[in-house]
Amino acid sequence: MPATEDTPAPFSSPTAPSRYCRRCLYELHGLPQPRCPECGRAFDPDNPASVYTSKRQHTSDKLKRVLLYMLGLWIPEFFCAVLAYETVGEVCSKMLILLMVAGNIVVALSLLARVPLLSWALLLFLVLLIVPRQLYLAARLVMLQSEAERLVAYVQEYKRGSGSYPPDLSGYRFHFEINRKHVQRYVVTPTGEFGLFWYIGTPGTSHRYVSDQGWGYYPD
Ligand SMILES: [Zn+2]
Repeated sequence: MPATEDTPAPFSSPTAPSRYCRRCLYELHGLPQPRCPECGRAFDPDNPASVYTSKRQHTSDKLKRVLLYMLGLWIPEFFCAVLAYETVGEVCSKMLILLMVAGNIVVALSLLARVPLLSWALLLFLVLLIVPRQLYLAARLVMLQSEAERLVAYVQEYKRGSGSYPPDLSGYRFHFEINRKHVQRYVVTPTGEFGLFWYIGTPGTSHRYVSDQGWGYYPD
């Protein structure tokens, strides 16, 4: 039953168990209304989950949230920022890691300063900036790697059949047609080797297969 001024609710009794506001930790005792006088947050006197029963509960609740936040956001963000090395190169990857660390420090500071709107806006910005594009590029990385393996197998098979490498890749049928525009070069050298180059996110960061060196990536 809701509390009124005429019928004091149990939470207003001085012998009632400790209760603290979930928003500002004000001690909720002897109140005529189920509402925190400090911050205005309403609570349900019949629902223990609408208040904290101890300050320690508040601390453990906060720790749980931080842990969930770390697992839910920092790990995917960090994983995607590191993955960016393979898709868009070392400089972009380092920039994303730096942005992620700096951005999350600002998020933590704005949480401490109790500016939730800024914290959430920044959190959302960081996640959207780092995660979706890198996940998309990761899918493309897997697709292109498997296409490259088929291309290399095609070139080697061609040589086994005809005694020389194919002059171009026109005889190869792409498994995923979208991969064609990401294959940058196929070259046969006068020394009898061949090289295949393709990119994921930016043309300046090529993955490659060179017959006498094996698989490689641009900075190596
Ligand atoms: Zn409060």
